[in-house]
This record gives sequence, C-alpha cells and structure tokens, in this order.
Amino acid sequence: MLSWEHNPSFVWRSILSVKLVVRQGARWKIGAGFDIPIISEPWIGSGSSIPPVGDDMLALQPYSVGNLIDQERKVWNEPLVRQLFAVETANNILNTPLHHQVERDKLISKAEKNGHYYVRSAYRICIEEVINNDHLRKPGYWSDIWRLKVHPKVKNLVWRICRDCLPTRVKLRSRGVNCPSECVRCDDPHEDSYHLLFHCPITVNIWQTANLWHLIAPSIHQFDNAPDNIVTIMWSIRKARNMKLWQQVSDSTFTILERAKHLLEGWRSANRNKSLLRHDN
Ligand SMILES: [Zn+2]
Repeated sequence: MLSWEHNPSFVWRSILSVKLVVRQGARWKIGAGFDIPIISEPWIGSGSSIPPVGDDMLALQPYSVGNLIDQERKVWNEPLVRQLFAVETANNILNTPLHHQVERDKLISKAEKNGHYYVRSAYRICIEEVINNDHLRKPGYWSDIWRLKVHPKVKNLVWRICRDCLPTRVKLRSRGVNCPSECVRCDDPHEDSYHLLFHCPITVNIWQTANLWHLIAPSIHQFDNAPDNIVTIMWSIRKARNMKLWQQVSDSTFTILERAKHLLEGWRSANRNKSLLRHDN
C-alpha cells in the first residue's frame, strides 16, 4: 500500500478523482440547501456551478445554498442573490426552481432519472468526508458559525470540526487510510480533533499563553459561543500541525498566536465597511 505520509496529496487526489468521475453529469436537487456549498457545486439551473474565482466568490466558500433561501417561504432571497452575484448569475439562480416537496438536498444524475448510481456509490464516500448529516440536523448551529466575524477559512475549519470531518490521523484511519495514529506534535497515541485542539500539551500551552484557557476549559464542546479569537487560534493550531507534518516546521506558541492575530486583524480591517451575508437562517 502507498505510504501517504510521504505523498501528502495521495488522499486528496483520491477523493478528488472519485468526485470528478461522479460529478460529470450530476446536479443537485435543492431541499433546504444547507448540504450544498455555494461555490463549485452543480446546483444552478440544470447543473452549472459558480467557479471559485475572484475575491468575492472566494469569500462565499464557507456558505451554503441554504443561506440564499428564504426558508420559511422556500423562495430565493432575491435581494441577497442580486447583491452577491453578477446579473447573469443572479438571473440563473433566481430561475432555478425550488420545490416545497423536496426536503433533503440530493445529488442526482442528469443522465439516469433515478440517480441511483451516483448517490449510492462513489459520491457518498466522498461527501460523507465533508458533510456529516447527523451534525447537520442540529438546529441553530449553522447560523452561529456563519455569524462569526472571522476569516472564511476559519469558519470553514470550525464547520469541519463541528461536523467531525477534520482529516486527523484517527479520522483517516477510520476511513481505511494506512497512516500512524500518533499525534504529529506530541506522540500521544490518538490524534483526533479533540486532542489536536484541546488536549495536546502543546495546544494547552497555547491557550494558557493566550490567556484563554479559563474560558475554554469549562465549555470545551460549545463552539457556538466561541469568540472570534478562539476559533482563529484553533485555525492556527491546525495550520501548525500541518506544517509540522508536511514541512517538518515546528511553530512556537508565539508564532501560532501571532499568525492568528494577524489573520483576524487583517480580516477585520478588510471587512470593516462590508457586511457579508447579514442574514440569519
Ligand atoms: Zn499531541
């Protein structure tokens, strides 16, 4: 078997290759829309997608199609759609039908009417890595995450943590990837999300240095109340873990906290006069 430790893109290449095979000819049927990322997914009209090009579109990456829908009336939030997209794209979105009777988002095949091949086989393996439906059903969670005033990549990380789909070593092993299970940074035998972000001695030291441990310790599972700097530091911890694993770089606590501080301050100043997706679903 290939050793993925020395070939870091192996896992992702595999996942993407399955996705690409499946994507040819597939499109989303829109239920609530919260399972469908806005960017790079075939949900508009008969299956076109919005490419991740340009800062405005990149900023939408953590959001889902559900954020564009008036959920009570099951219609497009037209002012929001017109605010976010160019005229032609906005028209195409607004012309995409929403049906009350479709309750769950579903990827279907354009070619096969029942869509069974795509839904049952390769795609599900991939999408399960990204979306855990059990977590998705927790009411209120999504809007709390998207309301955080932090860089989109930080929201994306929080989203993945909340859905328990961060590709830690324990998670990868549970998916059949042949890799060690030890923590990249401290050699604890069990590197899962909890260990990486809250249990690893290196991480605890970071939280203590940032003077945030007293806030985190009592509410360690309640991400919905996590302030902006806590979630941004989580992103930086995760980044340090990857730098250690792939580039053998050991960031100090100071570096990890500074990187988080710069990201948060940079993002805040860039967004001071901008209100992105100021709505709650
Ligand atoms: Zn550790």
